Amino acid sequence: MNSKSIDMQGGSGLPIASGASVATDALVAPGDSAAPGGAVASEANGGETFDVAVIGAGPAGLTAGLYAARAGLRTAVFEQLSPGGQLAQTERIENYPGFSEGAGGFELAWSMKEQAERFGVQIINEGVSSLDLALPVKQLRTPYGSYSARSVIVATGARPRKLGVPGEAQLTGRGVSYCATCDGSFFRGKTVMVVGGGNTAAADAIYLSRLAERVILVHRRDKLRATPVYHDQLAKLENVSFMWSTEVRALHGEEGKLVSAQVEHLSDGALETVPVDGVFVAVGTQPNTEFLAGALPLDAGGYIAASETGETPIPGVFAAGDVRAKALRQVVTAVSDGAVCAEQAANHVAI
Ligand code: NAP
Repeated sequence: MNSKSIDMQGGSGLPIASGASVATDALVAPGDSAAPGGAVASEANGGETFDVAVIGAGPAGLTAGLYAARAGLRTAVFEQLSPGGQLAQTERIENYPGFSEGAGGFELAWSMKEQAERFGVQIINEGVSSLDLALPVKQLRTPYGSYSARSVIVATGARPRKLGVPGEAQLTGRGVSYCATCDGSFFRGKTVMVVGGGNTAAADAIYLSRLAERVILVHRRDKLRATPVYHDQLAKLENVSFMWSTEVRALHGEEGKLVSAQVEHLSDGALETVPVDGVFVAVGTQPNTEFLAGALPLDAGGYIAASETGETPIPGVFAAGDVRAKALRQVVTAVSDGAVCAEQAANHVAI
């Protein structure tokens, strides 16, 4: 283990709350009208009434804002961190139509934000902490003020799920990360472990193979859940190896830095200590719905149960993107949800 200090910033060290995004530029203080990237911090800290209030500035929220503003509705998008959601943390996206060579995730997210603003969306850099949705004019509260809206689109996305093993919390940002593209460069020439078997784990392992000397993919089953295109790519990478049917049970550090992962072989319960410099956790996501607490019905996983057109049981309230219970969570399905919800919100406001 190289004892050189690894201080990760970005995705790993920050708690990710509603908006599912990690700040990539300075946070905006309330009342600061010179917000980065042209976003406006609310000057009045509330008191305004919008036709449509969108909560979350990922692909779903920005698209909802774009469609609503373009339909002539007074539209705000609330975002407590920086716009883009999980897309802004993705190095490259290859399955979003129109980009034959793929697109940079951050660049695509930023372009969505600028496009929405061009049509008059007001981006308010405040996290929504609670809501009253029952009345025809809905109330949204942030730490800095209250806002009113005739319709609300919830597009707060999801955040990485934790492993929940001893050592994980203490070593987050000290070898443990939830964002390969944010923190991968800290592990050039080192040994890293990726935990999970889905598309995120596969994409992270491929990305990290270009930086790390060795990548070990730990998965609790004997085959990946990831789409076949990733299997083929992984099979060709000589510095990627697999530990099948295994689960991480603990993470160990020395002098505040990760040094090893304890892995259980599920076939016989044997425990193995694997020396690693980094562990990238990619075991799925959980929705950013805690702030809804009782305001909207959620399913057993905490996702918002909405119709195909994004309607929730509360008139005028819609859900778009990864925060919704749905079969496929992709950028292309998130933007589609955003457009459909904006159309539904426009219909509701016209009543
Ligand atoms: P996911 O598809 O839910 O996969 C999560 C993986 O983590 C599964 O393999 C699961 O194992 C494993 N897992 C869950 N809990 C675990 C635990 N406590 N310990 C160990 N392993 C655990 O999540 P995802 O990969 O983050 O993908 C989320 C969504 O984003 C998906 O819809 C995915 O298609 C999409 N996505 C798409 C792309 C792309 O197309 N380029 C890239 C990234 C993500 P089991 O297999 O046993 O359930």
